[in-house]
Amino acid sequence: MSFISLGLSDYLLTALSDLGYTKPTPIQEKSIPAVLAGHDVLAAAETGSGKTAGFSLPVLQKLQSQPIRARNKVSALVLVPTRELAVQVTDSIVQYARNCPDGVKAVAVYGGVAINPQMQAMRGGCDILVATPGRLIDLVSRNAIQLDAVSVLILDEADRMLGLGFAEELAAIFEHLPEKRQNLLFSATFPDDVRELVQALLVNPVEIDA
Ligand code: AMP
Repeated sequence: MSFISLGLSDYLLTALSDLGYTKPTPIQEKSIPAVLAGHDVLAAAETGSGKTAGFSLPVLQKLQSQPIRARNKVSALVLVPTRELAVQVTDSIVQYARNCPDGVKAVAVYGGVAINPQMQAMRGGCDILVATPGRLIDLVSRNAIQLDAVSVLILDEADRMLGLGFAEELAAIFEHLPEKRQNLLFSATFPDDVRELVQALLVNPVEIDA
């Protein structure tokens, strides 16, 4: 299996070969075509499985075919449990996106640091916002960002997000999202609270256990 056979565009393939990725990981083999086809995805994925590229690559390609960066709007929203993961995911996205023809604006927002620079960074909207739930709620309530144009929602490390007590914040964020959207959920484990989230969020998901 090669990245080319998964349906990725040249601008992504060049970035991957520059990074030295020669072939997709098992989770990427399954998630990339499913996301490109527009399905919701439920993936059992540990750190180190290549899950970040598994959702970022197809999302980048989808956004290139429908660029809609409007003022204060977000096209793809990635929710993560921690500041460290927010930074790491955003760095990966920026690397994968470096040859994207229309350019990609990816921004990370997380708590524990001043909010003003993050408000500035989001002015004019962004293509991909990577956020921890609490800080995102804060930014939305200050009208720094609007979530009504989100076409893809990604929950990364869903079990850790719920484990850190973010269930209420997640529910509040979902209220701001448009009903018609694609949903991707990645989790290492599936306790009851994650299963409930899956039920509430995903519509006929492609299930991946790589
Ligand atoms: P993740 O599970 O998304 O945190 O990724 C784990 C690590 O694997 C990261 O350092 C990625 O840069 C790397 N990686 C992801 N996909 C591939 C691939 N197909 N080939 C080689 N390295 C990869």
